[in-house]
Amino acid sequence: MLLKTCSPGNAMPKGNIASPVPETTTRNQLKEITQMKKVGIIRCQQTEDMCPGTTDFKAATQGTLAFEETGPVDIVGFVSCGGCPGKRAISRAKIMVDRGAEAIVFTSCISKGNPIGYPCPHYANMRDAIIKKIGPDVQIIEYTH
Ligand code: SF4
Repeated sequence: MLLKTCSPGNAMPKGNIASPVPETTTRNQLKEITQMKKVGIIRCQQTEDMCPGTTDFKAATQGTLAFEETGPVDIVGFVSCGGCPGKRAISRAKIMVDRGAEAIVFTSCISKGNPIGYPCPHYANMRDAIIKKIGPDVQIIEYTH
């Protein structure tokens, strides 16, 4: 690639040409990203066969439905519970908190039974064990959509 050099006959244009994005926009975008809440999402392993999590990602990244209060979030992990009875979800939630998650989110397939109307029978135990493990300072969001 041929790079232009700066010389009196080839004056550099005003502004920062190293970035095609205006400096103010870049700063605003960075501010938005750094202020986004970081979340770790846990889904039902048995639902993986029938759902790729599309609506979960859409609501989380657009700040809608269960994410209206937080606004768009930064997803640091999207893991399954590890299979019945959900014991693996405890260590998985802890790992996501260790990696920066400020909230743990349970998808609606766990708490509401989407899309087949079959909520997780182990949900309350799983949620309570996770809260005990990660402590009270991490927000719990109990559905996605
Ligand atoms: S423990 Fe609950 S969330 Fe996990 S696979 Fe079983 S039914 Fe699904």
